Amino acid sequence: MTEIQRVTVYGSASSRIDPIFIEAGEALGEAIAARGWIQVNGGGRTGLMCAASDGGLRAGGEVEVVILEIFKERGFLHQGIPADKVFVEDNMPGRKKGLYERGDAYIGLPGGLGTYEELMEVLSWRQLGFHRKPIAMLNVDGFYDPLESLLLDSIRRGFVAEGFDSCWCITPDQNELLDWVAGYEPEDFGIGSKVGETRDFG
Ligand code: AMP
Repeated sequence: MTEIQRVTVYGSASSRIDPIFIEAGEALGEAIAARGWIQVNGGGRTGLMCAASDGGLRAGGEVEVVILEIFKERGFLHQGIPADKVFVEDNMPGRKKGLYERGDAYIGLPGGLGTYEELMEVLSWRQLGFHRKPIAMLNVDGFYDPLESLLLDSIRRGFVAEGFDSCWCITPDQNELLDWVAGYEPEDFGIGSKVGETRDFG
């Protein structure tokens, strides 16, 4: 079982979304704090990053953020995060690395292209065996149904490793999601676990 201290939360920077997503983000932030885990996120003052930070801080939890310099300069940093918990990076690969390395687990709230990219990266690196951490997506209002279908179809068609669906949890139930993260027993996946026969150059 992975010892969880920090959980990286990925999620939308957009606030132009249905309030049910904001409520779910706040509730997730509160629940992470209630488990005594430190939340790590992208530090935005908008959308679901903001909601998750608000929930975590309101519940008395610790929130650390890794934000791009340019976002901070433009006023997008959440103002409730203590200065010593704000880690500033000057480029996106550095920022994603900071979010990736800090977390003992990854949780995706609904989001857009940035969130997809972040989740696909941690999923892809899991398949390559670069980490063995749990990856969970909170399926608010069926948001992750299409991605789950795509991933399962990709396994069925041989594009993703057989059995890789053990590496993620997609559920609308926040407690089920956090229990899954807490009890996660990683299976072995690594370079070559999905590629099949290698060509014989005899
Ligand atoms: P998206 O899912 O496309 O809304 O993107 C979420 C990710 O986009 C975040 O983790 C950030 O990398 C980035 N992002 C976009 N806009 C902002 C912003 N105004 N403040 C902070 N992060 C942002």
